Amino acid sequence: MAGRSATPPVGHVSSAGPDIGGSLADLAYRELRRSILAGGRPPGTALSVSALAREMGLSRSPVREAVQRLIHDGLATHLPHRGAQVVALDRGELMEIYEVKEPLEALASRLATPRFTEADVRRLQEMLAEQDRAVAPPFRADESALMELDREFHSYIHRVAGNRVLCETIAAWSSRTNLAFPSGWANPEYAALSVAEHHEIARAIISGDAAEAERVTARHVRLVRIRLARWQARVSSAGEVPDGRVGVPGVRDAGS
Ligand SMILES: [Zn+2]
Repeated sequence: MAGRSATPPVGHVSSAGPDIGGSLADLAYRELRRSILAGGRPPGTALSVSALAREMGLSRSPVREAVQRLIHDGLATHLPHRGAQVVALDRGELMEIYEVKEPLEALASRLATPRFTEADVRRLQEMLAEQDRAVAPPFRADESALMELDREFHSYIHRVAGNRVLCETIAAWSSRTNLAFPSGWANPEYAALSVAEHHEIARAIISGDAAEAERVTARHVRLVRIRLARWQARVSSAGEVPDGRVGVPGVRDAGS
């Protein structure tokens, strides 16, 4: 287990002296983003500038800027008469995002394969070893830590791919999929399957087979989408999905 905290709270930010603009806004942005992605502020949570400014011990202007950046990232939205809130994905939208991610992630693996250096291979293997430890029995589900390991693995491949447009496009959509709570990562069987698929992707990349890397990556994203739909339907039918959180309809004929 990675030992990360599941839901790090937003800390009180020290702000002695005058507002130094950019850097405080940056700090507020990073704190809020981390808290949202860790599930500490579920979809639908209000992001009131004045309340957040009080909570974080900052003036309103850097907090307002941080909230604007979250809106730009697609993690927050501004509703008329209600202000900003953490984005609540439409049930079908989450599945649509995964459909878009499938060929993009596959392309990233194809482009990254010939660019992988010895050092990149070692780093990929370290990440996989960490994932193996995280899903090994006794499985202690730390959903947000597992999601972070997944994000780290895929982001590394995106960076090696070396295509900035592709990186930015995937990142914009990936932020939103990270709001999918409950994610399948709390389920030991699903988590182990994802890690096994990561090994498959790494084997193809390390062997230099770009076409195979593309194929198994597309398959991984497709299977994640199907598992996520099934898991959320299961949790939802058990009445365990709180209001305002993302849920997706059951996918019965998902074909895998
Ligand atoms: Zn993955």
